[in-house]
Amino acid sequence: MALRIAVLSERAAGENRVALSPETAKKFAALGAVVAVEQGAGLRAAVTDEAYREAGAEVGSAAAVIKDADIVLGVQAPDVALLAGAKPGAWVAATFDPFRDRERVEAYAKAGLEALSMEFMPRITRAQSMDVLSSQSNLAGYKAVLTAANTYGRAFPMMMTAAGTVQAARVFVMGVGVAGLQAIATAKRLGAQVSATDVRSATKEQIQSLGAKPIFVENVAGIEGEGAGGYATEMSEEYQKAQAELVSGHIAKQDIVITTALIPGKPAPRLVSDAQIASMKPGSVIFDLAVAQGGNVEGSKPDEAVVKHGVTIVGYSNTAGHLAADASALFARNLYNFLSAFWDKEAGKPVLDTEIGDAVRLTQGGNVVNERLTVDG
Ligand code: NAD
Repeated sequence: MALRIAVLSERAAGENRVALSPETAKKFAALGAVVAVEQGAGLRAAVTDEAYREAGAEVGSAAAVIKDADIVLGVQAPDVALLAGAKPGAWVAATFDPFRDRERVEAYAKAGLEALSMEFMPRITRAQSMDVLSSQSNLAGYKAVLTAANTYGRAFPMMMTAAGTVQAARVFVMGVGVAGLQAIATAKRLGAQVSATDVRSATKEQIQSLGAKPIFVENVAGIEGEGAGGYATEMSEEYQKAQAELVSGHIAKQDIVITTALIPGKPAPRLVSDAQIASMKPGSVIFDLAVAQGGNVEGSKPDEAVVKHGVTIVGYSNTAGHLAADASALFARNLYNFLSAFWDKEAGKPVLDTEIGDAVRLTQGGNVVNERLTVDG
């Protein structure tokens, strides 16, 4: 029997994305799979049921779609209760937020499902096209700058008009990973004067190549090169102190600050204190992209505009969800690239290798099996 791939409508609050696009539905069908999608699942991402049907997918109720599914695709992993009709040991490929949502991981283990956590995709060249963190962060970095620009009561580019000159906005990007690089590029395109900082020394050249000014702690060593797996770690107290001093001097002159700093498995590092906010000019705007992971900015709240000392602090709990059509198309392609890379033609289904399979697999055979979850308890 053909492999059955099921996709549900996302149920988390504020989640507008969908894990399947008409393009990937067609491609999965071409591999010989039957694709079933819950009715209305794509509407918030501008995909109609008709478009899925035209791409060869079945459209139906959640229960009908899930029945006998071999693989379930999700943006955010669905509650296990919704998966009751799936085949025993069915795979669920989605984001699981595994460090913070251990309960869900345990529930998947108990239900005998195989949870494949897309956040745990290794940062290796061959997995780049499967990496949802990159595809979604890139869009989030863009949206952060647009939202900040929209909130700001002044213009970004310098404008010389008959009535006088409008000064260019000064934008400071803190954390130059995928989101930060896109934030720099977007702010540059809007005509701002851009500076940026990171703890990883490899980002210095990347900042310069985008035409922005690097602002770096020089007297205490940061992370040489890219850092393990491209990720940062928590910095020493000495570094944090030096960074706070450097930022204090710089931030008071900025109009817009975009913070994007994350550390896998840990709360987001605190980069901007209340005292630093107080030093900024009234009317300045801070966008905290890490607000859902605990926040880089003191006092930031998800999905709320907080005004402190005349500075507006904004941040979405789900930034990519504000660009649902593009975010979904890329997310869906990441999932397709992942499963199709491992497609075994004879078996008619994907067979994962150990490097990527063991990295993303959280649960199997009733147990939590991922090293990153079992090692630190
Ligand atoms: P991330 O989302 O984990 O963090 C965002 C940025 O915040 C990082 O650049 C990090 O160094 C920085 N940061 C952390 N603590 C900080 C602090 N205290 N102060 C200032 N900055 C701080 O990172 P990311 O966007 O996922 O990307 C990290 C790296 O991984 C990048 O170099 C990227 O190119 C690389 N990457 C590689 C692949 C691949 O090869 N498959 C895929 C994705 C990303």
